[in-house]
Amino acid sequence: MPIVRVALPVPLPQLFDYSSQDACDEDVGRCVRVPFGRGEKSGLIVARVAESDLDPARLKAVRHIQREVAPLPADWLELVGFVARYYHAPLGEVIALALPPGLRRADAVSDRESDPLLDLSEAGHAALAEGRRASRALALLGELRAAGVIRRSAARELPAGAALGDAMKRGWVVAVRGADPAMPAANRPELTDEQRAAVEAVSAAPQGFAPWLLQGVTGSGKTEVYLRLAERALAAGQQVLMLVPEIALTPQLESRVANRFPAACVVSLHSALAEGARSRGFVQALEGRADIVLGTRLSVFAPLPRLGLILVDEEHDASYKQQEGVRYSARDVAVWRARQRGVPVVLGSATPSLESWQHARLERYRSLRLDARALASTLPAVRRIDTRRMKLDEGLSPQLKTAIGERLARGEQSLVFLNRRGYAPVLSCPACGWVSQCPHCSANLVVHLADRRLRCHHCGCDTEVPHHCPVCSNQDIQPFGRGTQRVEARLVELFPEARVLRVDRDSARTRNQWESLLAQIASGEADILVGTQMMAKGHDFPQLTLVGVIGADASLHAADFRAPERLFQQLMQVGGRAGRAHLPGEVLIQTEYPDHPLYRCLVKHDFDAFAASALDERRAAGFPPFTFQAMLRADAPMLDDAMQFLAHARRLAQEMAPAGVRVFDAVPMRMTRLARRERAQLLVEADERAPLQGFIAHWIEVLRGQRTHRELRWQLDVDPLDV
Ligand code: ADP
Ligand code: ZN
Ligand code: ZN
Repeated sequence: MPIVRVALPVPLPQLFDYSSQDACDEDVGRCVRVPFGRGEKSGLIVARVAESDLDPARLKAVRHIQREVAPLPADWLELVGFVARYYHAPLGEVIALALPPGLRRADAVSDRESDPLLDLSEAGHAALAEGRRASRALALLGELRAAGVIRRSAARELPAGAALGDAMKRGWVVAVRGADPAMPAANRPELTDEQRAAVEAVSAAPQGFAPWLLQGVTGSGKTEVYLRLAERALAAGQQVLMLVPEIALTPQLESRVANRFPAACVVSLHSALAEGARSRGFVQALEGRADIVLGTRLSVFAPLPRLGLILVDEEHDASYKQQEGVRYSARDVAVWRARQRGVPVVLGSATPSLESWQHARLERYRSLRLDARALASTLPAVRRIDTRRMKLDEGLSPQLKTAIGERLARGEQSLVFLNRRGYAPVLSCPACGWVSQCPHCSANLVVHLADRRLRCHHCGCDTEVPHHCPVCSNQDIQPFGRGTQRVEARLVELFPEARVLRVDRDSARTRNQWESLLAQIASGEADILVGTQMMAKGHDFPQLTLVGVIGADASLHAADFRAPERLFQQLMQVGGRAGRAHLPGEVLIQTEYPDHPLYRCLVKHDFDAFAASALDERRAAGFPPFTFQAMLRADAPMLDDAMQFLAHARRLAQEMAPAGVRVFDAVPMRMTRLARRERAQLLVEADERAPLQGFIAHWIEVLRGQRTHRELRWQLDVDPLDV
């Protein structure tokens, strides 16, 4: 009887063999349901084998093979195999992550084309020409003629869209087939010279793998470049994969793509979709019917038989890195995939990750630049407000208050941007500028208020919180970042006539909430916005002319060596919100370190100077991208158990690690307690990727074989973002 090897979502690296009456080679890559323990599990057939290690008599039989959809192709199995190897995750878990749940359960997938393309029929044109009595249906015909071929869903959104049913019943509007997916909407703009140069550079390159870094200031029209490149790929009969950081934040982009290519099948894939829709989109991609797949990080796993181009928007965004389970970076996987499939990949950002920027500098990536804005003539003016000798009013400086008042008087919008990310990291002295630094590393010591300790998260150094500044004896030393939470309330008091709107994870929890907030802002129903990093992402608010930044300094001295990079990216992004249309924008940054190089570069909009100097610091300190890291994290109800496990893992690592692999001390995490569990971590590092990877594979295998405390959980994070 044929034997199939199945990957199942279990926290074990092994695969499981089952017998099957009728399995054939074409079933490799198909979903199955199999008996497992006393129940049943869903998995994927990854191979057909001639013989099992198990006694054939003991093999159980598969219960159901999902044969209604095409099997996942070999290149897809290779892709998940790579992710499992590189991130040291069980293959079954990677597959469970990559496949939509409905498909994985081997459910039936309904796949009706539910959104046909519509156009005017001859009768419709005639009715319009004749057009004697004005009616809703005739109004709709006029709108449809202007729009060209259009999806039914989009036609319903037109001003006279309610008459669509009527117009179709009369035969004026009909479904059309065979329209060219690459045909763009009529109203696309002329490219700027820079945009044209970028599009031509990519198009002129020889076929095959090529990584590109598209570095373009905010508002420079990177999206237009993506759309033109997509158009070329579509015209060549290829599929396009477009990754965006968070789909909940980018409904605008989704409709922009769909409107540009009315005849293309645009599929969006993200975890917030209903199961049926996600399975359907995935199958459309798999069977080659989807022309463009647009989605968040997990769409990097969409199978794409005709793949011709990968686009990664805001490539620096931290949300490309999954922070639980299989901790993959969708950006890095996208580059691997482009290489595997021999296609170009374009990473776009105004503020690239230092890793990508470094690749471009070393010419491993090719550079594309957009240095001018497409519409607004200038970038916003960035100014520093020196708050050293200033009494702040719940974090607000007099200058910022005045500036907000001016905008209010002119009917323009202001945004007060709170940098919450670096909250309560290190201790500092406002009098002399002393910062709690680790005596053993170039990292800063982190305040743990609960037990009044200062700890280094890099080497494990652990000391008491001092009562006064060790340099100038000032007693008023504090963790950064206090008081920002009350800004909103204070703004309401200060500007009683203004409509103050808070925009953060709490006020925009769902996509609907977020969209209605965006609509509220865009229609001018708010005067002062108070927002966190959510506000930094790419949106156009034409009335927004002032961005005030408070609490930014916390990130200058945060323990995480990536904090300054994130701060620069965030401030440049959020500054890019100001003055997008025809009103000039201004950015005011409150700081006690006005001469800090980061702010100097920001004032000049000079990302390259910042990146170069930040990379010099990283090189000197031995941080990525000059080293490669992996973090072993453990958590348990009691910190001791987590620490003991890591201490054991550390001893093992020291015995096994080849020369060049450095093993640090286990340390409690910055936020030690989370959801009633206490967490600790252990960093391993090397100057080369290969020896680190080889060591980890071996190390993890040994650790998996060990018995641990019942309540202990551990995971490995390769290329961790938070250290
Ligand atoms: P980015 O993603 O680089 O911040 P966008 O793609 O959002 O920039 O473009 C910024 C604005 O400029 C948008 O309103 C867009 O419609 C407009 N735009 C982009 N390219 C052009 C162009 N070639 N001609 C006219 N307007 C453009
Ligand atoms: Zn240290
Ligand atoms: Zn001091």
